[in-house]
Amino acid sequence: MATQESPLQRVLVIDDDKSLQETFRGILTPPKVDTASLDAITAALFDEPDATKAAAPAAGTFELDVASQGQEGLALVQKAVAEGRRYGMAFVDMRMPPGWDGVTTIEHLWKADPELEVVICTAFSDSSWSDIVKRLGQTHRLLLLRKPFDKAEVWQLASALSHKRQAEDAVRARQLELKAANARLEEEIVARGRAEDRLKHDALHDGLTDLPNRLLLSERLQRCMERSRRCPEYRYAVIFLDLDDFKLINDTLGHTVGDQVLVEVARRLQGCLRCLDTASRQDDQTPARLGGDEFVVLLDGLKLPEDARIVGDRIGKAVSEPLSVGGHEIVITTSLGIAHGTPEYGITDDILRDADAALYASKAAGKGRVGVFDDAIRKQVMDRLRLGIDLRKAIKEHQFRLLFQPIVSLESGRIECFETLLRWDHPELGCISPLLFIPIAEETGAIHEVGRWVLRESCQQLRIWHEQFADRGDVSISVNVSARQLAWGDFAAVVEQALKESGLAGRHLNIELTESALMEHSKVVAGLLDRLRALGVKLHLDDFGTGYSSLSYLHQLPFDAIKIDRAFVKDMKLDGKHANTIQAIQHMAHNRGMQVIAEGIETIEQLVVLQTLNCDSGQGFFMSHPVGATAVRSMLGRSDGIRWAEEAQRAKAEAQAAVA
Ligand code: C2E
Ligand code: MG
Ligand code: MG
Repeated sequence: MATQESPLQRVLVIDDDKSLQETFRGILTPPKVDTASLDAITAALFDEPDATKAAAPAAGTFELDVASQGQEGLALVQKAVAEGRRYGMAFVDMRMPPGWDGVTTIEHLWKADPELEVVICTAFSDSSWSDIVKRLGQTHRLLLLRKPFDKAEVWQLASALSHKRQAEDAVRARQLELKAANARLEEEIVARGRAEDRLKHDALHDGLTDLPNRLLLSERLQRCMERSRRCPEYRYAVIFLDLDDFKLINDTLGHTVGDQVLVEVARRLQGCLRCLDTASRQDDQTPARLGGDEFVVLLDGLKLPEDARIVGDRIGKAVSEPLSVGGHEIVITTSLGIAHGTPEYGITDDILRDADAALYASKAAGKGRVGVFDDAIRKQVMDRLRLGIDLRKAIKEHQFRLLFQPIVSLESGRIECFETLLRWDHPELGCISPLLFIPIAEETGAIHEVGRWVLRESCQQLRIWHEQFADRGDVSISVNVSARQLAWGDFAAVVEQALKESGLAGRHLNIELTESALMEHSKVVAGLLDRLRALGVKLHLDDFGTGYSSLSYLHQLPFDAIKIDRAFVKDMKLDGKHANTIQAIQHMAHNRGMQVIAEGIETIEQLVVLQTLNCDSGQGFFMSHPVGATAVRSMLGRSDGIRWAEEAQRAKAEAQAAVA
């Protein structure tokens, strides 16, 4: 029953007098008897007037423990504290021979439970209140009860004091709760503040490198532009950089390594800016990542214009230091473009565009360079813009024409195929190389229309030659196709249409693709190539050896021929490195049933070496420059191929005789 009560309703009596113990028990834990008889007993015992009957206790209000000695009482208090069921109050007798007296007992009790409410029970002959207080040193939590007791007084003391303690404990518990809630609240406020800061930071920084992103860069650049308009002597510059052949790292070593390289580049960039000397005096240099492998550095407050190039050179040098990532030793270079701020720049994109143009120009001049935007680059940009616009009307105005270069069998000299090479006769600028206008056509999207035209014209042209030269029905035509053409719309349908319109069989059409085109659109490529092959079309891998040169493509993709880039043929000697490479490529290609075509054969010596290496076919100025349709007609009518072959045979015999 007592366990149902609050522990603070627990009362402890420490008294050596057994009869008094029983008295306390009777008052505080009365048995469930009729109260009238209890009243009668206690009235007789304490000579209590009838009026106090109202204060009679209800059974089960207190849980009472009794001890006869101070030490015993102390043990109970210690146990209660340990169990978390502390006494609400204690009645302590003053005299308890032979053990501790009441005061000593109370001293011990308070050590065990400092908040314990104590009533000291004394007879008039015992120590006085002032003596007790003097010994205990406090009046707080201490009351005096003179014997003989008043039954109601005992009950009221027990009740009032234990309720007081209960209330105090409740207040204390509530205070603790409030304090904890307060602490939680403070923590939440701090955490929310941190989360807000994080959000703000994330919105303005790149997730991978933690460098400022385009948004933050634009904000700072905007400030520089405004300042430049206000004070003419103020200087700033933008350095645009990207990593040369970064795609190669991603594609060969994986994106995790690629990401680590970017993080390291960002670190080096920051390092370069941190250790800038006072000569450069940048107030606020912002290195930012725009995305991919593109970084921008904003130099705010340049002392001299030349300082931008000094910083650019330093960055170039720092980035090109070898780096070790994921067990790979990597050397990467960066190309940089600088644009100096002028008050004329209106929006941030303008100066970024110019720095990018300077970067483009420096890349075109060779990798790992620093270029500064100037009038020449501005003119190049304008020219490109103009060509982009002019390209749109070039087809309609019949400014394109096709040249054809024969690809011959190196053994027999017989023409096997013609490669279609596009020319643009610009009304003012004259004949423009595809190397110049194809990238522009790709950028502007004009490549799709141009590419369709080339395909249609090529197929029709070959169909005409087949009709004109019945014995040349095995000759095929090779058409160059660029990366953007593959990715846009349904390229296989465009090819199918061209074949259908011309009536040419698919097996007479070769599509030349470069490795970079395959890399850029690796997702669409596999399915597309299968569809082209289903049309009977053959696939030739162009410029092999210049790009990523990953032989893994040759295993994965269904090529019919590999065209070895002319860079290999150019410096080739029979016993040299290139010859070995060509032989290795050829060995692998033949094993997979692929034909090998050498590009750029310019001399009889090159032709002989390639013949000796058992290369299947070749093309180059030695046999023929790219020519127009009329020249092709006379070529097909003659047996030019036999001439090259005979010449080559003669040269070979002479070379062998010289060795002998
Ligand atoms: P490519 O497909 O590798 O074409 C071979 C290029 O090498 C041609 O340059 C050709 O004139 C040149 N060439 C051939 N034999 C020799 C030689 O013995 N020595 C030297 N130095 N060069 C030789 P061209 O006509 O200027 O074309 C350049 C590139 O433009 C082509 O390289 C091809 O990638 C692209 N291209 C040409 N026509 C088209 C086209 O219709 N569509 C697309 N997408 N690209 C085209
Ligand atoms: Mg080609
Ligand atoms: Mg080529």
